Amino acid sequence: MEKNISLKNKNTFRIGGNAKYYAEVDSKEEFLKAFKEAQKLNIPVFIIGEGSNLLVSDNGFDGLVIKLNLKEIAARSNILSAEAGAYLRDLVFKAKELNLGGIEWAVGIPGTIGGAIFGNAGVPNHSISDLVKEVEVFNGEEIVKLKKEDCHFSYRNSIFKKNNSLVILKAKFEFEKGENVEDKMRDYLAKRKIIKGYSIGSIFKNPQGYSAGKLIDECGLKGEKIGDAMISSEHGNWIINLGNAKSKDVEALIVIIKGEVKKKFDIDLEEEIRRL
Ligand SMILES: Cc1cc2nc3c(=O)[nH]c(=O)nc-3n(C[C@H](O)[C@H](O)[C@H](O)COP(=O)(O)OP(=O)(O)OC[C@H]3O[C@@H](n4cnc5c(N)ncnc54)[C@H](O)[C@@H]3O)c2cc1C
Repeated sequence: MEKNISLKNKNTFRIGGNAKYYAEVDSKEEFLKAFKEAQKLNIPVFIIGEGSNLLVSDNGFDGLVIKLNLKEIAARSNILSAEAGAYLRDLVFKAKELNLGGIEWAVGIPGTIGGAIFGNAGVPNHSISDLVKEVEVFNGEEIVKLKKEDCHFSYRNSIFKKNNSLVILKAKFEFEKGENVEDKMRDYLAKRKIIKGYSIGSIFKNPQGYSAGKLIDECGLKGEKIGDAMISSEHGNWIINLGNAKSKDVEALIVIIKGEVKKKFDIDLEEEIRRL
């Protein structure tokens, strides 16, 4: 366990203060040991993946941040099991290598398996939960297996968002036989808009029947800046760190966006991102 570690380089926004304690663990045993140490110190624990959906406070975190360096991906016929610290992109490429289909749409989405399951990552018409069979979690006392139904997946939501004490360790995914996997991946990648600069992807969920980005655009907010945080001029639902943005700048932009969208459309935008 290290002390006073900057979290700035541990998230894709490049924002945030220090973690009082920080640990990278290479096995379940090391994870359990770190978790128990935090319990002894009576401090909270936060699991971080690639930090690609995370707004880290300028004040840092007064507890233990754990990064799971558990990255194994194993195949058994059309079932792949992946440890939580493996990158989603590695699962996509493993499936391609084995000519398994169903996850081509995830090409280009950053983050880990743990992060993807936590937020039920996806693109329009597809979510990671479509493929999930089972998730292995640590519930604070023991390691248990949750069936897909137990995970309560919905649009960018899961039981893990509601119950922060569940730590995802591993997941099993079921694939179909692949057809033109590489071509499909190329098509999905070509359709993806590239976010230039440091960001954490879409800030808000799309309200039913609407695009959050379009609503924000129609409020004339693209290009709005506070400090070094700017609402992307390409897409209203992205905020870019131009270099030295603070979490308070991003928070201020979020307040402005929510206020303007409420005023113009009477719609309450709900955030997709998480905070640390
Ligand atoms: C350029 C860009 C494009 C993006 N495009 C998309 C997109 O198309 N679709 C989409 O859905 N998302 C997208 N995102 C958002 C992000 O990539 C996803 O939300 C991703 O799944 C987050 O994974 P992560 O490992 O980075 O999680 P983090 O940001 O590190 O963490 C997010 C949350 O997950 C929790 N978490 C992570 N691992 C675990 C674990 N093992 N156990 C319990 N909780 C855990 C964290 O505590 C935190 O609350 C994009 C982001 C960027 C920067």
